[in-house]
Amino acid sequence: MTDDISVNLTDKVALITGSTSGIGLATARMLAKNGADIALHGFGDPNDIKSLVADIARASGRKVLHFSHDLSDLSMARQLVEDVTVAFGKVDILVNNAGVQHVADIEEFPDAAWHRVIAVNLTACFATIKAAWPQMKDRGWGRIINTASTLALVAEPRKAAYVASKHGVLGLTREIALEGARLGITCNTICPAWVLTPLAAQQVEAKASQLGKSFQEAAETEFLTDMPTRRFVDPSEVAAGVLFLCSDLAKSITGHALPIDGGSLVV
Ligand code: NAD
Repeated sequence: MTDDISVNLTDKVALITGSTSGIGLATARMLAKNGADIALHGFGDPNDIKSLVADIARASGRKVLHFSHDLSDLSMARQLVEDVTVAFGKVDILVNNAGVQHVADIEEFPDAAWHRVIAVNLTACFATIKAAWPQMKDRGWGRIINTASTLALVAEPRKAAYVASKHGVLGLTREIALEGARLGITCNTICPAWVLTPLAAQQVEAKASQLGKSFQEAAETEFLTDMPTRRFVDPSEVAAGVLFLCSDLAKSITGHALPIDGGSLVV
C-alpha cells in the first residue's frame, strides 16, 4: 500500500466518478485522508455503498456523499456535476475515472458496445469537464485528472472501443490543459497498466475459462507477462499519482499522461 504520503486538500471538494470500486475507491479514500470532501460515485449494492460511505467518512472525518448517475447518458453526466455542486457548494477536483470495457474482434464488435464504451469512457469526461469549468474558472483553481490507461498510448487487439476511447481521453486532456493553462486549472491523464480490480478480474476470468486454467495461472501467463514487475499495480499506487496531481506541487504539470505501468510501456 502507498498510503503514507500527505498533501493538504482541506476545503477542497473532490468528485471521483466510478469510485464505488477499484481505482476510484482507492482514490476516494486517499483524497479523503488528505482532507478533501468526497462525492463518491458509481454503481453497486446499496448496502455495500452505504458501508463504504460510512467507512470513508469515519476514517477521514470528511463529508462523503454517494451519487449514482449513469454516465452512459451525457445529460446525466452533466447533472452529476450539478447535483454534487448543490450538495457540497462546489467541485474543485474532478477525477474522471469511471470506465467500461468490451473485448471482441472488430468484425464481431457490437455497435451498442462501441457506443457504450465511448459514452462512459470519453463522452462523459467531456460533459463533466464542461459542467465543472465555469466554477473552476471563477475560483482560478481546478484539478482535472482523467483515468485513461496505457491503452491511451499503445493498442491491444480486440479492444477497438476501449483503445479509441482512451486515446480520445488523452487528446481531450491535452486540449483542456491548453484552455485551462492561464486559469489555474490543470488537466492530466493517468495511464495505469494492469490493476487487479473488478474490471481487470473479469478479463482474467474470461481468459482462464477460455484456456481451462486457474485464475492465478491465467493471470501469470496471460497478463503479468506484460508487466516487467510481474505483479499487478495496486489501486493505491494509482491513487497516489492522482493525489500528487491534485497538489500545488503539480501546478505546472498539465496536459500530460502519467504512466503507472510497472515498466510495461518501455519493453
Ligand atoms: P472497476 O470496474 O472497479 O470500476 C469502474 C467504476 O465505474 C465502478 O465504480 C462502476 O460502478 C463505474 N461505472 C461503470 N459504468 C458506469 C456507468 N455507466 N455510469 C456510472 N458509473 C459507471 O474498474 P477499475 O479497474 O477501477 O477502472 C477504473 C478506471 O481505470 C477505468 O476508467 C478503467 O478503464 C481504468 N483502467 C483500469 C485498469 C485495470 O487494469 N483495472 C487499467 C488501466 C485503466
